[in-house]
Amino acid sequence: MWTRLSALFFAHTCIFCQESVTDPFDLCRYCLADLPLSGVACESCALPLTEAPPSPPHTPMQCGRCIKSPPTTRHAVSCCHYSYPADFLVLRLKFAGQLKYARVMGQLLARQVTLTNRNEVDLLIPIPLSPGRLRERGYNQAAEIARFAARSLGIPMRASVLSRPSDQRPQTELGRRLRSRNVLGVFRCHQNLAGLRCAIIDDVMTTGATAFEAAKVLLAAGAESVDVWVFARTPV
Ligand SMILES: [Zn+2]
Ligand SMILES: [Zn+2]
Repeated sequence: MWTRLSALFFAHTCIFCQESVTDPFDLCRYCLADLPLSGVACESCALPLTEAPPSPPHTPMQCGRCIKSPPTTRHAVSCCHYSYPADFLVLRLKFAGQLKYARVMGQLLARQVTLTNRNEVDLLIPIPLSPGRLRERGYNQAAEIARFAARSLGIPMRASVLSRPSDQRPQTELGRRLRSRNVLGVFRCHQNLAGLRCAIIDDVMTTGATAFEAAKVLLAAGAESVDVWVFARTPV
């Protein structure tokens, strides 16, 4: 009786097909199977790898770029490839005020982090927006995703650790080299992070320039390590 009643009270609907799901996860198993979930990927930047390279056990699995020039982050985890319908969720959350999608995105990210055993982290820190962009949008999509990932994982999230005092050109307008230059020195850290293993949270990662710049600032503030967790990764 209680099971049936609780199923009624706590029923959720799938965000894609509106089927009711009893799981607190807002996605039915068929729609979950349709998501372009990440497969084998570079451990340092989450770039999809076509196949696992034949490396000795316990050596990191990295893409050519990360082997040549290791990034500032320890590990990178991406939940999905940036293609349909994952890109639909990102765009609706970011540009159409559809905050309801943040919950499932955060839950999926938490699931991916757990499945890949990358959940040994003390603090989640979303990539901040500039005050101007925050006023315009009314919310920070990365903080919304981070909030639900934090809740699912039982790890604290603090959006006030990093700030981004001024506006830059949107990264989407720029190529790889200009992206790194565009975010150089844009973040400020407001907390001593000594001994803390941190994870930066963002909705999408393209070249990683933004996350790597934020990681540099967190490491300078004493962070023991910095990981980057994103909902979707573009194949660039
Ligand atoms: Zn569904
Ligand atoms: Zn890589």
